[in-house]
Amino acid sequence: MHRMTWLAVFIVTVLVDSAGGASEQELRVGVSAVDITPPVGYRMSGYFIERVGTAVHDPLYAKALVLAQGDTRAVLVVCDLVGVPADVSSRARTAIAAKTGIPVAHIAVTATHTHTGPLYFGAMRQSLHDLAVAKDGKDPRESIDYPATLAEKIAEAAVRAAASARPATLDAGSVRQEPTLSFNRRYLMKDGSVKTNPPQKPGLADIVRPVGPIDPDVGVVLVRDGDGDKVTAGLTVFAMHQDTTGGTEFSADFAYYLERSLREAFGPDFISIFGIGTCGDINHCDLSAERRRKAAEIGPMLAATVRAAVPKLRRVEAVELAVRSTTVDVPLQSYPADRVEQAKKDLPLIGKGQLPFLKEVEAYKIVDLRQRKGPTTPLEVQAIRISREVAIVTLPGEIFVEFGLAIKRASPFKTTLIIELANDNPAYIPTKQAFAEGGYETVNSRIAPGGGEMLTEAAIELLKSLGGN
Ligand SMILES: [Zn+2]
Repeated sequence: MHRMTWLAVFIVTVLVDSAGGASEQELRVGVSAVDITPPVGYRMSGYFIERVGTAVHDPLYAKALVLAQGDTRAVLVVCDLVGVPADVSSRARTAIAAKTGIPVAHIAVTATHTHTGPLYFGAMRQSLHDLAVAKDGKDPRESIDYPATLAEKIAEAAVRAAASARPATLDAGSVRQEPTLSFNRRYLMKDGSVKTNPPQKPGLADIVRPVGPIDPDVGVVLVRDGDGDKVTAGLTVFAMHQDTTGGTEFSADFAYYLERSLREAFGPDFISIFGIGTCGDINHCDLSAERRRKAAEIGPMLAATVRAAVPKLRRVEAVELAVRSTTVDVPLQSYPADRVEQAKKDLPLIGKGQLPFLKEVEAYKIVDLRQRKGPTTPLEVQAIRISREVAIVTLPGEIFVEFGLAIKRASPFKTTLIIELANDNPAYIPTKQAFAEGGYETVNSRIAPGGGEMLTEAAIELLKSLGGN
C-alpha cells in the first residue's frame, strides 16, 4: 500500500482585483486564431502508448477572445491540445502581458482536451524522448521545440485579438443538450467496485449504475459586430471528454466539426471557440448503444443545440467587465523513495503490454509528481464577470462534473460558464467520494483528496465577490 500524506492547508495567496466599474463604457471584443499544428511525425498525446502523427486531419488552433471595457481587459485563449502545462502557460501569459499591458491574472490559457494533439509535456513525453535520445543520440520525433513555439503562438493569438478589438454586442445563455450525448463514465459494478469505462459488452450485465451525474448545459456566448447585425464568433462550453476521434491524424476532435457546422449558420469567417466544461468523469460512451458516436456526428449535434439556442439567448445589456484570480495551494499525493525508484524503472516498460494498465498510469503519475516538489502545488482559479448575469470561471486540471455543478448551483450569476484545463495540467481532480471509490481517474490524479473541494470553494468565493444580481 502506498503512503499518501498531505497538508490540509488552504491558502489564498493572491487576490487580484480590478473592478471594471465603468459600466457606461462600451464593450470591445477581439477574436483571433493561430495555427499550432505540430509537424507530421511529432508524437501524439491521449493514450499510454507511443503514437506518431501521420497526417493533419484538421489544423489545431490557439483561439483568443479578448473582452475590453474601458481600461479593463480579459483574455481567454483556448488551444486544441490535451492540456497546457504551467511552464508554457506562464511563458505565454508573461509575453501577452508585456505586449498588451493586460495583467497576467486577467489572462487564461486553456486546452480543449483533444486526444489527437501533440504529446509535448509530462513524464510520458520525457520517457519516450529519453529513450529515443539514448538509442539514436537525438529524438527524430521532436523536429521542433514545440513548447517554445506554442508559447509564442498563444501570445500571438492574444496580441492579435487585443489589437483587433472593436465595438461588439454579446448574446449569452445556457441551454440543455439532450441527455443522450454525454455520459458519466464511472460505474458501480455488481461486485461493489467502481470502474471507469467498463467493457461495453459482455460486461454490461455486471453494471449496476453510473455513480455520478452529467452536466447537460451548453453555455453559449455569441459575439455580434457593432450593434448586433452579424455574428462573428462564439464561445461554446460543454462538459464531455474530447476523445471521439482516435487514430494518428492530428485533429481538434468534435470541436472542429462544431465549428464547421456553426459556419454553415454564421458564415465562413465565424470563429468557434470551444471551452471544455468540467468533464473529468464524463465522456461520450453510451454503454447501451451498439456503437460509439464519432466526432463527425457529435460536432453537428452540439451545433444544432447552439443554433436552436440563438433565439433564446439574452442580449448582454449592461456589461460590467471585471476579473479576479486566486491561487490555492492544493495538497499533493506523496510516495516514498522506494516507490519512486520502482516507477522510474517501470517507465521503459510502459505501452509494451508488460504492466497492468493502472500500474502504467500510476508510474507516470509518480514521476510527474516529482516535478511539483510537494507537499502542495499552487493552482489558479479565475473568474471573469461579463455582466451581473454572466460570468466565466476557469479551473486547472480535469475537473469532476460534480464540482462544476456545485459551482453553478452556488453562483450568483444566472449564466456561469466553467472551463477546465486552464493554465496548468495537474491531471484529474476527483471528488473526495471518488477517491474513496477508486478507479482510473483517482489513480491518474496528482492531488490529494480534498484538493478539488478547495478549488470549488475558491471559485464560488470569487463569483460571490464579483456579485450577481
Ligand atoms: Zn481526460
